[in-house]
Amino acid sequence: MSAAIISGKEISATILDEIEMEVKRLKELHGKVPGLVTILVGEHPASKSYVALKIKTAHRLGYHEVQDNQPEDISEAELLALIQSYNEDDRIHGILVQLPLPKHIDENKVIMAIDPDKDVDGFHPVNAGRLLIGGDAVRFPPCTPAGIQEMIARAGVPTSGAEVVVVGRSNIVGKPIAVMMAQKAPHANATVTIVHTRTQDMAAHCLRADILVVAAGVPNLVKPEWIKPGACVIDVGVNRVGERVSEKTGRTLPILRGDVDFDKAKEIAGWITPVPGGVGPMTICMLMRNTLNGFKGTIKD
Ligand code: NAP
Repeated sequence: MSAAIISGKEISATILDEIEMEVKRLKELHGKVPGLVTILVGEHPASKSYVALKIKTAHRLGYHEVQDNQPEDISEAELLALIQSYNEDDRIHGILVQLPLPKHIDENKVIMAIDPDKDVDGFHPVNAGRLLIGGDAVRFPPCTPAGIQEMIARAGVPTSGAEVVVVGRSNIVGKPIAVMMAQKAPHANATVTIVHTRTQDMAAHCLRADILVVAAGVPNLVKPEWIKPGACVIDVGVNRVGERVSEKTGRTLPILRGDVDFDKAKEIAGWITPVPGGVGPMTICMLMRNTLNGFKGTIKD
């Protein structure tokens, strides 16, 4: 039997509707809306399109949204001063600096400069610490792992006591999702294993997984025979494997694939996320939710 497809596109559309309604309610009550600034340095084409999508989504939700484009040669000191000005701006509840930054700017210094209570990406060490503590300490879970957990929850995949195997140990996906799934909390309480390039016998670990989260950035890394029948497979990988011309617009578009062979895996798994249309749309959605929560922290409801 073919797996149930967990559509990030559909789940994120539902969540965005929920957020939109909440923003309207809070605006009527307080006369204020959440504010999000996205800072884009330079002209990196992929970054430009990510930022455009974030701003478009914020606009649709009724947020006060600011797109602050800065030239490639902005100095580190100027960028840090700009961030400080948004830290002090009461209309802004979320500050997002689009990564990667030009080489002359230290990304760590930039992340550290953002007020942790406006760090809607959840990358500041204070927010990483809050995530590790869990429970009420968590302020801004990083967006991609938050989206993964939300998909698992909304698809009704049991997590308590489940074996979760996470492929990859990056600070933005692998490590945080592993921590989140191991917490003593709803939609968590799992037994978690992290595998990476030094792991011996990846296949044996993956085969044990009731929930397999793959975030390596390697197309077809996970073989169909590594998947436990009935498991939930969350494919985070986004790999450009070629190009195609859109029939509608005539534009050249990238062909994207995940880290899992979707067509074969869906015949074995119980649930699976597609690429594209899986984890990707959830990430922006969680950014919007974090910004809403940042705003809510500044008002009395
Ligand atoms: P990353 O920083 O490059 O980390 C990749 C991790 O995978 C590393 O821990 C690496 O192990 C591990 N890995 C790589 N090749 C492996 C192999 N052959 N066997 C076992 N482990 C392997 O990547 P990332 O930022 O976490 O992103 C991972 C993927 O998710 C990328 O395709 C990225 O584009 C995608 N992504 C998607 C979203 C979204 O919104 N959909 C968001 C973020 C990332 P070592 O630590 O041992 O090197």
